[in-house]
Amino acid sequence: MDKRDIEMLVRRRVQELGLDMNPGVKKEYIIAANWKMNMSEKETKRFLEEMKAVHIADNIKVMIFPPYPYLHLFKENLRYEKIAYGAQDVAKEEKGAYTGEVSASMLGDMGCSLTIVGHSERRTYYGDTPQIVAQKAKAALTYQITPVVCIGETLDERQQQRYKEVLKEQLDAVYNEIGTKVGDCIIAYEPVWAIGTGVIPTLEQIYETHKYIFDVLKAYGLAHENIKILYGGSVNAKNVKEIASVEHVNGFLIGGASLKAESFKNIIGLASEV
Ligand code: PEP
Repeated sequence: MDKRDIEMLVRRRVQELGLDMNPGVKKEYIIAANWKMNMSEKETKRFLEEMKAVHIADNIKVMIFPPYPYLHLFKENLRYEKIAYGAQDVAKEEKGAYTGEVSASMLGDMGCSLTIVGHSERRTYYGDTPQIVAQKAKAALTYQITPVVCIGETLDERQQQRYKEVLKEQLDAVYNEIGTKVGDCIIAYEPVWAIGTGVIPTLEQIYETHKYIFDVLKAYGLAHENIKILYGGSVNAKNVKEIASVEHVNGFLIGGASLKAESFKNIIGLASEV
């Protein structure tokens, strides 16, 4: 069986499951790289050099989230309007005596148009509660920085069938803080049990959960075109196409597979073929 046959099978399976949105219509995708606390200055420079040659199709938008110390390299070297960049977190406060924090206006000075907030690693290791995450999203928006708000349930919560409740609580906190400006955020659904584990939810689980998140956002009064939901958790070149075909998946937040330019470029290319 060659690559084409496999792709046809995947497409047919997605259609059989009724998970395909508008067959024949080219979807737009966001492909976002979360480097976490990885990469050196040298590696970042090499990565940016390699990204210069990348072809990005019209339906693809690329985002990169490097560690803070390398943001300046993006500001100085990135002259590609199809690649946006941002930080992995932002302070909820505007300025003042908050040692170690980086404010939204500082991110603006670094040319960031985006920031991640509420990544599960921040929620788990640094005590970012749903309310703190919501305040961070608000602080970012004040400086025209688009928050990529990560939400997701743990394995326990999934197994106990509590995931909808958990996701709703995380979303409601943001809605309570910023109202319909949630429509100015990008939501990244990242099941904690799929992050860095190589374990991927089934297509049905991804569809069902994205649809649920979509419905919650719709109920806040958001228009369909303002709702962007990324999937994150062990995405790689092997699974990106089938997940991309699922309705309400508007792109990906990618950790491990985004650390090598070759692998990231490959994913960008594959998403544009869907
Ligand atoms: C992440 O941490 O946002 C992530 C999705 O990581 P990985 O792709 O490595 O699972």
